Amino acid sequence: MVPRFSYFRTNSIPDAVRCLSQVGARVHAGGTDLLGCARDSVFGLSTVVSISGIAALKGIHETPEGGLRIGALTTISEIAGNPLVAAKYRALSMAAAEVASPQLRNQGTIGGNLCQKPRCWYYRGEFNCLRKGGDRCYAPEGENRYHCIFGGENCYIVHPSDTAPALVALGASVTIEGLKGRRSVPVEKFHVPPAVDFTVETVLKSGEIVTEIILPPPAAGLRSAYRKVRARQSWDFALAGMASAISLNKDQVIHCRMVLSGAAPVPWRIPEAEAAIKGRRLDVDTAAKAADAALKKAEPMSQNAYKVPLFSAVIKQELLNYLE
Ligand SMILES: Cc1cc2nc3c(=O)[nH]c(=O)nc-3n(C[C@H](O)[C@H](O)[C@H](O)COP(=O)(O)OP(=O)(O)OC[C@H]3O[C@@H](n4cnc5c(N)ncnc54)[C@H](O)[C@@H]3O)c2cc1C
Ligand code: SF4
Repeated sequence: MVPRFSYFRTNSIPDAVRCLSQVGARVHAGGTDLLGCARDSVFGLSTVVSISGIAALKGIHETPEGGLRIGALTTISEIAGNPLVAAKYRALSMAAAEVASPQLRNQGTIGGNLCQKPRCWYYRGEFNCLRKGGDRCYAPEGENRYHCIFGGENCYIVHPSDTAPALVALGASVTIEGLKGRRSVPVEKFHVPPAVDFTVETVLKSGEIVTEIILPPPAAGLRSAYRKVRARQSWDFALAGMASAISLNKDQVIHCRMVLSGAAPVPWRIPEAEAAIKGRRLDVDTAAKAADAALKKAEPMSQNAYKVPLFSAVIKQELLNYLE
């Protein structure tokens, strides 16, 4: 049952930030995740602060530098359908189109997509696990077929957002506003791994909100893509996926960033794979070397070893697609 809460709606960022500094206050953007979490007692909720009326947080605009500013309240559908995003940041356009269902994409926002809570079924269910303040994680000895194969320490969630890996691959940053002012954080550093703190998912502090996402101008010749494999063809979270941003000079890799989804508690960059192809000719052999390098440190659990060959295939196929 959804608990009783106070509701505060504002058109101003400073008012939102002030109200969010109260204990138990939470941002309501599209509400597609927040209300499910409240109903399932994932967290306590005393005040809902609706930011959906703040016009300054909406829309997609080019920056003077030739990059893009995406307001935190921009819906996932708007991003998926925006021609500028598709032309310059294809990985983000593809990732947005893969999020959930059309209804959820119409209602859900990019800020909410980056800040959504994990989907571990113990955490969403009636288990008072470590991440919810309990004293144990149920995944290692329990049902762990959808859990992580990298970066698990204390907690073994996979990061749920499709857009976050694409934003990391594209070198994006988020702007955060709070009582102490404004700061910018690379999306790569926005999510917190459980080895650092298993009680939070992002670097947001009490009262802080994400206001915008900034994409840098793409380097000349940069191409990007997002691939998602899921258990069901309709809507589902990623079993395995990869965002990549690569530039080639003929077949030689000049620049490359690869970020896995469905792999780890945070979007999982694979520097070993990047190093295996940077400066080299991209072909079947180097793509296989990149996949091997990426998966060398995988630590599957009792039921999710299938993810290792799945990721290997995704990495190889995605890299070879750049030759077409
Ligand atoms: C059935 C289902 C399937 C889904 N499948 C996928 C999927 O395949 N891929 C995927 O990526 N996502 C998936 N999602 C998640 C969905 O994309 C998110 O629910 C949505 O993007 C969240 O956006 P929202 O605006 O509704 O967020 P809200 O529900 O309003 O907020 C979500 C969380 O983020 C916080 N928050 C929201 N905006 C901000 C902000 N600007 N600053 C700080 N905190 C903020 C809220 O307090 C809350 O904790 C799925 C969700 C559902 C319910
Ligand atoms: S994986 Fe994390 S969220 Fe899931 S049961 Fe373990 S501690 Fe809880």
